[in-house]
Amino acid sequence: MSRPIKAFVDTKALKANLSCVRQKSAQSQILSVVKANAYGHGIERVFEGLKGSDGFGVLQVGEAEVLRGLGFRGPIVLLEGVFDPRELEDCSRLQLWHAVHCMEQIDWLSRHKTHKAHRVFLKMNTGMNRLGFRPEQFKSVWSRLNALPQIEEISLMTHFSDADLPGGALSQQSRFDQFTQDLIGERSLSNSAALFLNPLNHALHQDWVRAGLALYGGSVNYPQQTSNDWALQAVMSLRSKVIATQDLKPGDTVGYGSTFTATQAMKIGVVACGYADGYPRSAESGTPILVNGQRTQTLGRVSMDMLSVDLSPLQQQGQIECVGAEVTLWGAASTGQTLDIDEVAHHAKTLSYELMCGLGNRVPFEVIEDDA
Ligand SMILES: *Cc1c(COP(=O)(O)O)cnc(C)c1O
Repeated sequence: MSRPIKAFVDTKALKANLSCVRQKSAQSQILSVVKANAYGHGIERVFEGLKGSDGFGVLQVGEAEVLRGLGFRGPIVLLEGVFDPRELEDCSRLQLWHAVHCMEQIDWLSRHKTHKAHRVFLKMNTGMNRLGFRPEQFKSVWSRLNALPQIEEISLMTHFSDADLPGGALSQQSRFDQFTQDLIGERSLSNSAALFLNPLNHALHQDWVRAGLALYGGSVNYPQQTSNDWALQAVMSLRSKVIATQDLKPGDTVGYGSTFTATQAMKIGVVACGYADGYPRSAESGTPILVNGQRTQTLGRVSMDMLSVDLSPLQQQGQIECVGAEVTLWGAASTGQTLDIDEVAHHAKTLSYELMCGLGNRVPFEVIEDDA
């Protein structure tokens, strides 16, 4: 048998999460964000579940190319626009909408030869101070862009820095509104957090919402609320198996650095999953994990290819034979029990975003089709 680790992508969960996103913004169109190869799930693997989206948001031309290759003919937005003038050719060829966040991109556009004018999303910096034009410049930039023959339509966008904090999106929204009030064009403001923390707020959500995390089943404000509280379903499950066991005596330690010491006799399991698979090394002893669907905890340091788990809860249930037992690192066990990816991320002092995006190349995937 080959190494037993595997990641699963649940198509039904994607569809359910997409309809949950729609319920939060009934009047808006949804751009499903599939940057970073669909947050690590694989664009090809999530396409079936998300093809009901009104459009897609991507970071790289290559991602847009994959979507066109899958037959998607609707809107695709390059969320950071083009990285060099040559990519404007790709936008023309693939009919991409693209963000415009700096003067250089406008210069490139003004020199771009195309027979079909582009639709762009002019981006305002409302406080993130990453990409976009300052509010006071916005109108003059809009006018300059609007005068270019290469431009067919200008939409307006911003991205919130504090959408996960109560009221966080609202001060940025008011700055955006103030400096765009006499500009025409469709608007796009909200990400998952702005959407879920301000449901049905159309003044905030506007024409296009850009949803990422929620579609993949991550909570926008864990631990205040979990994905379960939001009625979101886990899309990614990471499973492996116990490949060895050890019987520890009191005083025995586990793993590199001997960070865990047994205080009593106990059985531990060694799992075929390590940081090279994308399991966070920052997850210390005590991180929750499922073995045969039963909740237990990790012990000692995560190494490159392995980690260790406490098998005591299984032993108490009379399970003696533990080699080969199924281990769920996050998501759903084959028997249905679940472990919230946000909970694992929280133990590792990171976010579910990072865990989803970080699976190692050596982890094989399986798509669970929706047979409804
Ligand atoms: C990634 C991204 C999103 C999606 O954010 P989530 O928090 O995952 O919903 C939206 N807009 C832009 C510009 C992004 O880069």
